[in-house]
Amino acid sequence: LSKDIDYQSVLSEIHNEIAPLIGGGKVANYIPPLAEVPSEKFGMALQCTEGESFSIADGGERFSIQSISKLFALTLAYRHAGASIWERVGREPSGTPFNSLVQLEYEKGIPRNPFINAGALVISDIILGLATDPQNSFLGFLREQSGSSSIKVDEATLRAEKATGHRNRALANLLKDFDNLEHPVEDVLDFYFFQCSVKMNCQELASTCLYLANQGDSPHAGKVISARKAKRINAVMLTCGTYDAAGDFAYRVGLPGKSGVGGGIVAIVPDLMSLCVWSPALNSSGNSYVGTKALELFTTKTHLSIF
Ligand code: GLU
Repeated sequence: LSKDIDYQSVLSEIHNEIAPLIGGGKVANYIPPLAEVPSEKFGMALQCTEGESFSIADGGERFSIQSISKLFALTLAYRHAGASIWERVGREPSGTPFNSLVQLEYEKGIPRNPFINAGALVISDIILGLATDPQNSFLGFLREQSGSSSIKVDEATLRAEKATGHRNRALANLLKDFDNLEHPVEDVLDFYFFQCSVKMNCQELASTCLYLANQGDSPHAGKVISARKAKRINAVMLTCGTYDAAGDFAYRVGLPGKSGVGGGIVAIVPDLMSLCVWSPALNSSGNSYVGTKALELFTTKTHLSIF
């Protein structure tokens, strides 16, 4: 049935229907370069496992991937370190904001999941122990999976992350105090900020995530992880991928998704496609306001929610 859908028309309909919503939400401003992005931007792209791809509006314009990077870092750590990662980070929704310190203190330095900042710092520490050149391994993974060799870090964003990341620095110090970081705090933070500062567009992100829609094996870029691990990453995305609004996102959209404060959201339709939407203004839980609505319209129109 899904093969009969004219996805380009679906994207056009969504583009028309979200137009009146542009202007809602608020662009993140705690990292200054993010605040400079015009709030009316909107892009969306789909990449099907069978090879077709579709894109609309600003789907080819790069933006700061921010926390979407946590999905790729988890993939790399899980691929190489296996289930041992779950000794140092949990896989339950946090129910607290992505950068909360309180829960980490009372849960003795074991972050709830890999998609909150504390969890991503632990994952970064794990990758530092696995790769000789972690920054290049990370970028190499994105370039290989997306097919775009020009993907890189935005230096202004990286500088701003370092200059304003006081709360992340506090999280890393707390993790270190609880013996849940092996490497120096500054090394872990540098690698974490590096990941957040990468810029990609919707088309590149949809292509990069295709392994998660295809049992761990990207049709255009080879095997990334086992089918078992892909299943589990999708489950963690569904339950923890959109900050403390994961329940509402599942209710509205009904797909595993991962968002970032740059306004991007990636989502997976198992065995069919990966998709990415971008619109920089965020709702009160830090997810793209228009992006969430666009994904909700997508699953409503196509009946491709997993539920
Ligand atoms: N670099 C951001 C931070 O650590 C990432 C936040 C996000 O996208 O959730 O605050």
